[in-house]
Amino acid sequence: MKLVRFDGGRIGVVRDDRVIDVTAAAGCDPNAWPPTGMVQLIHAWLERREALAFADGPGVPLETVRLDPPVVWPNKLIGFPVNYVAHGEEMSSGYTARTRGFFMKSPSSITGPADQIVLPDIPGREVHHEAELAVIIGAQASQVSAADAMNHVFGYSCLLDMTVRGLEVERTMRKSYDTFTPLGPWIVTADEIDDPGALELELRVGERIAQQANTRDLVIDIPAMVEMASSVMVLYPGDVIATGTPAGVGPVVAGDVLTITIEQVGSMRIPVVQGSGGNNSAIRVEVPQP
Ligand code: MN
Repeated sequence: MKLVRFDGGRIGVVRDDRVIDVTAAAGCDPNAWPPTGMVQLIHAWLERREALAFADGPGVPLETVRLDPPVVWPNKLIGFPVNYVAHGEEMSSGYTARTRGFFMKSPSSITGPADQIVLPDIPGREVHHEAELAVIIGAQASQVSAADAMNHVFGYSCLLDMTVRGLEVERTMRKSYDTFTPLGPWIVTADEIDDPGALELELRVGERIAQQANTRDLVIDIPAMVEMASSVMVLYPGDVIATGTPAGVGPVVAGDVLTITIEQVGSMRIPVVQGSGGNNSAIRVEVPQP
């Protein structure tokens, strides 16, 4: 099933490029705050999924709705650094996610397929694109083994982990600017993906292919990521894992349009614009670009 949030937090099922409004069947109040309707739907999935699977009606054409991020207000947005060997080499990292573990990024940085990336006004710093497969957690996971991990995966989305380059070891600030995590265009439930460990991923900047890889080249795979994260902290329904980016990262500037496409998952096209905020005493420290 392809699940969307649209037009201000309504829940929809996408079939044949049409959106069927299942907000009521999902038990979601689009006006509730915080806007955790999708998180609650994922939590109640076993009770709700049948009603959604059999929802009918003509729906409306996909292009006539405004797609929101498929999940907002997840309890956690987790990222894995240097999880493709070739990206580690281009960054001269000298380490991989296998020994460095994961990081956290602010969930408030999540935006949707109809939104823009707003660059902070930080002269001398580059903002890079990182195209990644997003894993959405389903059943609550604590101390889960790799063998059991996939039973806790709800589905998949496309994700851009936008990042200010710099030598601050702590990544949180550099990755948490508002609009720095475009997510979407929908969640494809796990049953629709043949093998999440063998998906082609591509990022274009304009027409130019900047990143192209396959998830089979992940240093630690999805089961191992769920095992590692859940060994530290409980993973809740709706939590998002950014699984890492392959080689080919590079700077973006206002006017660029980023198109991320992941096989069997989907595609989204995100314009980049210049904003005026985001400068602070830490970001003003001049550091050599890695
Ligand atoms: Mn990343």
